[in-house]
Amino acid sequence: MSIVTRSETLKNYIGGEWTESTSEKSEEVVNPATGVVLCSVPHSNQNDLNRAVMVAKETFKEWRKTPVPRRARILFKYQQLLVEHWEELAELVTKENGKTYKDAYGEVQRGIECVEFAAGAPTLMMGSQLPDIATNIESGMYRYPVGVVGGITPFNFPMMVPCWMFPLAIACGNTFILKPSEKTPMLANRLAELFTEAGLPDGVLNVVHGAHEAVNGILDHEHIKAVSFVGSQPVAEYVYKTAAANGKRVQSLAGAKNHSIVMPDADLDLAVKNIMEAAFGSAGQRCMACSVVVTVGDIGDELVRRLVEAADEIKIGNGMEKDVFLGPVIRGSQRKRTIKYIESGEKEGCQLVRDGRKDRISDKQGYFIGPTIFDHVKPGMIIWKDEIFAPLLSVVRAENLEEAIDITNQSEFANGACLFTTNAKTVREFREEMDAGMLGVNLAVPAPMAFFPFSGYKNSFYGDLHANGKDGVDFYTRKKMLTARY
Ligand code: NAD
Repeated sequence: MSIVTRSETLKNYIGGEWTESTSEKSEEVVNPATGVVLCSVPHSNQNDLNRAVMVAKETFKEWRKTPVPRRARILFKYQQLLVEHWEELAELVTKENGKTYKDAYGEVQRGIECVEFAAGAPTLMMGSQLPDIATNIESGMYRYPVGVVGGITPFNFPMMVPCWMFPLAIACGNTFILKPSEKTPMLANRLAELFTEAGLPDGVLNVVHGAHEAVNGILDHEHIKAVSFVGSQPVAEYVYKTAAANGKRVQSLAGAKNHSIVMPDADLDLAVKNIMEAAFGSAGQRCMACSVVVTVGDIGDELVRRLVEAADEIKIGNGMEKDVFLGPVIRGSQRKRTIKYIESGEKEGCQLVRDGRKDRISDKQGYFIGPTIFDHVKPGMIIWKDEIFAPLLSVVRAENLEEAIDITNQSEFANGACLFTTNAKTVREFREEMDAGMLGVNLAVPAPMAFFPFSGYKNSFYGDLHANGKDGVDFYTRKKMLTARY
């Protein structure tokens, strides 16, 4: 275990070897809670990528023929190793991302669940047959891997999001090149290292660090057959269009602006507890974060009062410290950007009922900003519209459920939406009318588990087959039909 905590330039993992990038460019990886530089990450270039692709392409010849149960056994072993290293992995997530240890621990669990799902490959990869499509003629569908797959991931889930991709792709017989976020690249090396320890042959999983050049290399490379992307909306759209134009399969998961509707009959204690978690947990840097609350009827004042009261109780600080609920945002630039949005909300005339700029964390060098709440926000305002990706919550008032759903559906994003109510009919109407991919009722963050698809719509997703679940299996396999006369 040599790679992850040294204050030096990270290496790429290619063909089972730790390989220095040939690029001269790099950037610092910083602990956002302390400002301390953890290491540097290379901005790998086309040469580095070509090398990884050639290895992955060569390895694919054998890996695709490795019996599926044997592949699954390696995943079972990998699952065990991840469980054994759970605390270490969670600590690393907190260090490079800033989220609290509790959040990081939960994230590691979500990653492990993906490995558990992928270990079901022998069943998941089964085809289907019809013995009598005509007299003495039968047809069968067989699944095969696609080839070399490229995965490009964001900073906010250094464990979970890569695990949406490479375990299932590899279980399905593909070889993989992971390009982790340059802001949180360290965990990827450890994940690759542990997979090798579990028995994964060299060259099946490769890690190429970097930024735009490495991404463009993946999108353009003729030997990469499929691309899984998760990140912000403009990049997701660009990745989708470019990779698709180059003839690749693409699934491209993008940004979000998730609304939670609170009905007058809701259990307010439950609603407040869950909205706090969803709006300010992981410093609002989740694609399933709640960034807008829509209050219905006359509960608005009471709900806002309680939200502010609960936000005042939040402990802000380094995520490794006990009882800290709100860690830093990822970089100083993101803190500045958030402050600009607070100023924009003030200019647009909404009511700033809790100002996170005033939370002073004087002994800390990190990128902290306290929980911020705007009331009387209107659809169309900038803070309602944009994904801010910070602990900033907007409250919009609506007269009734119909109006609340209409406001929510006006968003260009459609990752998730939540409802707090005690009325079954309201739940049904919400489910029928809401134009978003992942709905939640009386809970905070309705992120589906690995055996279901991660299912955003509109500008939250580009492509056809989503990540995880049967969609994931379809994405990482090609179907071949055999029709035969006997
Ligand atoms: P980002 O788009 O800045 O970066 C994601 C990846 O794209 C990184 O690996 C980065 O190196 C690369 N990249 C960034 N800009 C690029 C460019 N111009 N050209 C080529 N490559 C580029 O995203 P982020 O800030 O790391 O992550 C946060 C975003 O990810 C948020 O918008 C969040 O909603 C989204 N996200 C979505 C989901 C989902 O399931 N829909 C899940 C997690 C995160």
